[in-house]
Amino acid sequence: MATGKINVSVENIFPLIKKFLYSDHEIFLRELISNATDATLKLKHLTSIGEAKVEYGNPVIEIKVDKEGKKIHIIDQGLGMTADEVEKYINQVAFSGAEEFLDKYKDSAKDSGIIGHFGLGFYSAFMVAEKVEIITKSFKDEPAAHWTCDGSPNFTLEAADKTDRGTEIILHVAEDSTEFLEEGKISELLNKYNKFMPVPIKFGMRTETLPKPEDAKEEDPAPTQEVDNIINNPNPAWTKAPADLKEEDYKGFYRELYPMQFEEPLFNIHLNVDYPFNLTGILYFPKLTNDLNVQKDRIQLYQNQVFVTDNVEGIVPEFLTMLRGVIDSPDIPLNVSRSYLQADGAVKKISSYISKKVADKLASLYKNNREDFEAKWNDIKIVIEYGMLSDDKFFDKADKFALYPTVDGAFYTFEELQEKLKATQTDKDNKLVLLYASDKEAQHSYIEAAKAKGYEVLLLDSPIISHLMQKLETSKENISFARVDADHIDNLIKKDEEQISKLSEEEKEALKKELEETITNKSFTVQLEAMDSAASPFTITEPEFMRRMKEMQQTGGGGGMF
Ligand code: ADP
Ligand code: MG
Repeated sequence: MATGKINVSVENIFPLIKKFLYSDHEIFLRELISNATDATLKLKHLTSIGEAKVEYGNPVIEIKVDKEGKKIHIIDQGLGMTADEVEKYINQVAFSGAEEFLDKYKDSAKDSGIIGHFGLGFYSAFMVAEKVEIITKSFKDEPAAHWTCDGSPNFTLEAADKTDRGTEIILHVAEDSTEFLEEGKISELLNKYNKFMPVPIKFGMRTETLPKPEDAKEEDPAPTQEVDNIINNPNPAWTKAPADLKEEDYKGFYRELYPMQFEEPLFNIHLNVDYPFNLTGILYFPKLTNDLNVQKDRIQLYQNQVFVTDNVEGIVPEFLTMLRGVIDSPDIPLNVSRSYLQADGAVKKISSYISKKVADKLASLYKNNREDFEAKWNDIKIVIEYGMLSDDKFFDKADKFALYPTVDGAFYTFEELQEKLKATQTDKDNKLVLLYASDKEAQHSYIEAAKAKGYEVLLLDSPIISHLMQKLETSKENISFARVDADHIDNLIKKDEEQISKLSEEEKEALKKELEETITNKSFTVQLEAMDSAASPFTITEPEFMRRMKEMQQTGGGGGMF
C-alpha cells in the first residue's frame, strides 16, 4: 500500500470548499455523475476507433444509497483508471482543479448561485463526505486500484480486487449531510440535474406490468417483473434533428419536461446552430395570460445534457423568459456573474439568435396559417408586444405579423389598418386616428357610438399596450391612437348633416351644462356630438394623453417592467 501527500499549496482546502459552497452542496452528485458519464463516453469513443479492444455493451451508471452504512455509491462501467492514472487525474488534476477554482472564484462566490453552475469537479465530493474512496479498474490490462482520502492532502493508494471494468466512487457521508442518505432526496437531485444525461442512470428497481398472456383468464392478475429503474431519458428530443421529429414528439417532450402541466403548448421552436457558437434546444409558447407577473424561470439551461440552471436571465432576451423549454449550450460561460454574462459577446450573440429564431417562427406561422395565428393571438400577444417594445430588431420583424383585433373579432396587421382606414378615419391634419377600446363592456356605449359613425374600433387590452402605442406613434408617420372615450374623437367625427337628436340646440346646451356640473372630476369632458347617435344620448370623455399617462405610470416605463 502506498501513502502520500497531495501536492497542493493550500494546506487543507476542504474547510474552504465547505464554507464557500455551502448553498450548493447538492451539486456533488451532478459532478460525480458527469465524470461517470464522461468515462463511459470516452470508452465508447475508444472502442469505436479500435483503440480499446473491449466490448462496450450497454453500460449504465448506478447510484446506490446505503443508509445504515452512511454511504453513497456511484458506479460506472466506463474506461476506469490505472493506479498511475489515479495519481495523475485525481491527485493532480482534480485537486489542482479545485485549488485553481477556489483561487479564482472565492471572491465571486458571494455572487449567489454562480458556483453551482460551474463544476468544481471530483473534489465537490468532499462537500458532503468526510471520506471518499475510489475503486477503479481500467479497460487496460492492469490491476485495479483503491484510493482513499479524507479531504486533507493525505491519501492512500493500494491494489484492489475489482475485476469488472469501470469506477466505483464511495462517499462516506458526513454527519452534517445525512439528508443525502434519504432516497427521496437523491431521487429529487437525479430528477433535477440528470434527467436527460446521455448514459442511462439506474437508481433501484421498479415493478413493470407485462401484458397478460393470451390464455389468461379475466380474473388473473397481469404478470409483473422487476426491472432496473432508469431515471433519465438519454436521448431527449432537443438532441435530435428537427426532421426526425413529429408534432407528437414535441408535445411528448413538453410533458416530459413539465409533467405537472396539463395544458398543451401552442407551438414550439427548435433551435439548432453550430456556428459561431453551439446551441440546441426547444422553446415552447405556452398559453399566456395578460398577467405580467407570470412565473419566469421556466426555460432550463443545460450544458451537454447536464442541467445547469432554470434562471436564464441575461442569456435569453427578457421578453422571452415567459416561454418554456430547454436550451443546451456549452458556450455559455457560467463561472461569471450575471452582469458580466450580459456583457459577454458570445452570450449577446446567443441572445439575439434566439430572438431572431422566435421572430422567424412567428412570421412563418403567420404566413402559413393566418387563421390559426389569429386564433392564438390573444394567448401569445403579450410576448410579442413586449418584444416589440424592448428589441428593435424584433419590432421590425414583428411589425409585419403583429395583429390588431377589432371589437368585432376581425384581425388586421398595422399595414392593413392603414390601408383600410386611411380614407375614412383621418383627422383635420390628415392624421390616421386609430380608435380602440380596452374594455368591451365598460366602453360599450362609446364603441356603439363610434361604430354608428362607421368607424372601426380596435380592442387593445394588454397591460403594456400604452407603451406599444407610444412606440408605434413615434416610429410610424402620421398616425395616432385614441381610446373611444377620449376627447380626441372630437376631431375625427364629422358633423352629420342630419340630426337624430330630438333635443333642440338650447336643450342640448342646458343638458351639457347640467352634466358638467354633476361631474366633479375636471379631467373629464362632456361630448355633445354623440347625442346625434341613436345608440347613446351623450358621452363623457377623458383626454387621451391624461389617461395614457396614468396607465403608463402603473406599468412602469420601458424595459424591466416585469
Ligand atoms: P474534469 O471532469 O473537469 O476533468 P474532475 O475533477 O471532475 O475534472 O475530474 C478529474 C479527472 O479525474 C477527470 O478528468 C478524469 O480523468 C478522472 N476521473 C474522475 N472520475 C472518473 C471516473 N468515474 N472514471 C474515470 N476517470 C475519472
Ligand atoms: Mg468532472
